[in-house]
Amino acid sequence: MSLSTDQHAELVARARALATGFADKAAHWDQTRDYCWDNVQAMQQAGLMGMTMPQRYGGLGASYLTTVHAIEEIAKACTLSARILVEANMGGISAIMNYGSEQQKQFCAPIVLAGNKPAICIIEPEAGSAATEMTTSARQKGNRYILNGTKHWITGGGVSKLYLVFARVFDEQNQELGIGGFILHRDPDRGIEPRGMTIGPRERTMGLCGMPETLIQFENVEVDPEFAVVPPSGLKRGFADLMNAYNSQRVGAGTIAMGVAAGAVEHAKRYLKERQQFGRPLAEFQGLQWMLADMDVSIHAARLMLHEAARSAEMPGCTFPDKTLAAKAKLFASEQAIKVVNDALQMFGARGYGDKEPLERMYRDVRMFTIGGGTAQVLKTQIAGSLLGMKVPQTRDGYLSGSEEMSPILAAAE
Ligand SMILES: Cc1cc2nc3c(=O)[nH]c(=O)nc-3n(C[C@H](O)[C@H](O)[C@H](O)COP(=O)(O)OP(=O)(O)OC[C@H]3O[C@@H](n4cnc5c(N)ncnc54)[C@H](O)[C@@H]3O)c2cc1C
Repeated sequence: MSLSTDQHAELVARARALATGFADKAAHWDQTRDYCWDNVQAMQQAGLMGMTMPQRYGGLGASYLTTVHAIEEIAKACTLSARILVEANMGGISAIMNYGSEQQKQFCAPIVLAGNKPAICIIEPEAGSAATEMTTSARQKGNRYILNGTKHWITGGGVSKLYLVFARVFDEQNQELGIGGFILHRDPDRGIEPRGMTIGPRERTMGLCGMPETLIQFENVEVDPEFAVVPPSGLKRGFADLMNAYNSQRVGAGTIAMGVAAGAVEHAKRYLKERQQFGRPLAEFQGLQWMLADMDVSIHAARLMLHEAARSAEMPGCTFPDKTLAAKAKLFASEQAIKVVNDALQMFGARGYGDKEPLERMYRDVRMFTIGGGTAQVLKTQIAGSLLGMKVPQTRDGYLSGSEEMSPILAAAE
């Protein structure tokens, strides 16, 4: 059950109020590369962590639409905090809350509600866009799964306490059953560390600097079958179903990009009135006015697409945002946001290139969103496949073989 109109407005207002405080410290997290635990605590107290979870598990039962409104407000001020909100409400946690067993939900919900965003582990050093070429395995052995493999670019590696790890599942006869998700709990402060799970090294990124992006290795990690997330359709379609939950994360990621761009426009509006050249404010130059108008139109269009995609999860029979609407919205929002932030920086001249203004940080932050969570190219392939009503194999022999086997990209996109 989603929130009433008043509850929705109150929640978004709460996010907006928090964002005001976050803006001042965003540069600090960027420079120190520290995880913004202060902001996490504030968001947790405001009920924003796990807001999409049903009330019976302690969440607010907020819709994805309400959630993206709140995320936009936070993203205008602090991209890092907005990313935490996406992962605490969408993607991995959506998969667990929709496909997980009752025991898994009861276990994971309090951890997220306490302020710990989960990490989702799909990509590997040799399996990026071709995600289903992953080699991480989960082999049944007696009453355990044994996990082996390496994941890369894991957002929140080391700070997260929950990890949803995707792996190829094999039975005791070495028969492959499909791809499943496995929940790992890691909380070193409480002495909880799965044996054989190694975090790091951490990547040094151009933006979103306070967020650890790490390699994670699994060497004979034992997992209790009770922590295997298998959608009702079974393991064979497991990955496609689990990735459906990821549509929500794509809408969230697009919303962050759009929110950063909207924040950049606010800064640009201020500066155009402040800065004088040729004896008049920059705001009086038509060349800049038209740039500003284009920026606003792009954001407006992106916002409408994102809201449409978020709302599609509320259609009868739907649980997650529609796959194609989510792909279109993320693609458009992320590409437009990069342009908008770039233009906003341009309006500041040299000042935009320096770190006294937030534009250079916003520019570095927003650049990620055409890469992480499905690159622009992968999303275009998915959209084209939907337009043409056909599977679009990406492997070299995909078309030649005429095989019914699904291409990795579309398997991931299904
Ligand atoms: C900051 C950040 C955070 C991330 N967080 C996570 C996370 O938490 N969990 C996780 O599992 N992963 C995460 N990722 C990984 C992300 O999902 C991958 O980077 C992404 O899927 C692309 O994979 P790749 O980087 O290996 O690029 P590649 O697949 O090697 O692609 C390289 C380039 O080729 C293009 N390309 C590839 N195949 C095709 C094709 N068939 N047609 C046209 N173009 C193609 C791509 O679009 C890209 O431009 C994160 C990445 C970043 C940057």
